[in-house]
Amino acid sequence: MTRVVALEEHYCDAELAEHFSGGDRLAPPLRARLLDIDLRLRDMDAAGIDVQVLSHTAPALQKLPAEVAVPLARGVNDRLQRIVEAHPTRFAGFATLPTDDPDAAAAELERCVTQHGFKGAMVHGLTGGAFLDERRFWPILAAAEALDVPIYLHPSVPSPVVTEAYYEPYAAEFPMLLRAGWGFTAETATQAIRLVLSGALEAYPRLKLILGHLGETLPFLLWRVDQALSREGNRPLRFREAFSRHFWVTTSGFFSNPALLCTMMEMGIDRVMFSVDWPFVDNRQGVDWLNAAPVCAEDRAKVFGGTATALLRLQE
Ligand code: MN
Repeated sequence: MTRVVALEEHYCDAELAEHFSGGDRLAPPLRARLLDIDLRLRDMDAAGIDVQVLSHTAPALQKLPAEVAVPLARGVNDRLQRIVEAHPTRFAGFATLPTDDPDAAAAELERCVTQHGFKGAMVHGLTGGAFLDERRFWPILAAAEALDVPIYLHPSVPSPVVTEAYYEPYAAEFPMLLRAGWGFTAETATQAIRLVLSGALEAYPRLKLILGHLGETLPFLLWRVDQALSREGNRPLRFREAFSRHFWVTTSGFFSNPALLCTMMEMGIDRVMFSVDWPFVDNRQGVDWLNAAPVCAEDRAKVFGGTATALLRLQE
């Protein structure tokens, strides 16, 4: 039997969710699915998913200032630990970090990994408009490297400045345009590219990073980005090599054979891990897709759970 692990699977902390309003507030049916653990387990069972690595949904602590986020983080992560502890064979956890205070975020990551057994952290988009490559955030990267756990770079809704400049005429008629329809992708790919350019990957040579959505288009673009950045006038940098060494990608919300094959050809099969993006995407659809995808049985088993089990050091 192939073990199925999914690692971009969201839940919601009721106390954290209280801090958001307007477009950042979750619709009631989604909220129920994010909060209800029994419903989650039934849906996992029906689709044949053995383990979910749970992460908070967006928005998360990146949208809150340090004075609110730091005290809140501890409770959020302790409550996640209790969910995992109640079902230790079915769940693992990614920490939610108060990134607006990088030293506190690094300390919280260490606490969550060493005391709660969490498998890494998820960061949702920009922190108060700032990308993660800024030097003030490097203590978080240093902690992840020292603890040997990955940081999952997850999208969030773009800042109002970006929405206004790029999407405004279409935002009302196509609200998903600035989200999963394109805006998430543009922002998260930029987050990843900036980390490669920043020098952080040289400073932390064993840092492990995860992107969802089959790498936010970057596997498809790697050759071109690499070629363009190696033209005269750019600081010498082996973009493609650095990206391929530090990044893993998941299939969250992106069940396309052509996209999967491109990602496998560019990054290698050992860098691709199954995920659904539950509850925004259907568990069954993801499992059925990968079961029928044009890969050999050995590769399918790696993608379904083998690689994630090794990378996150999950209990077998
Ligand atoms: Mn997601």
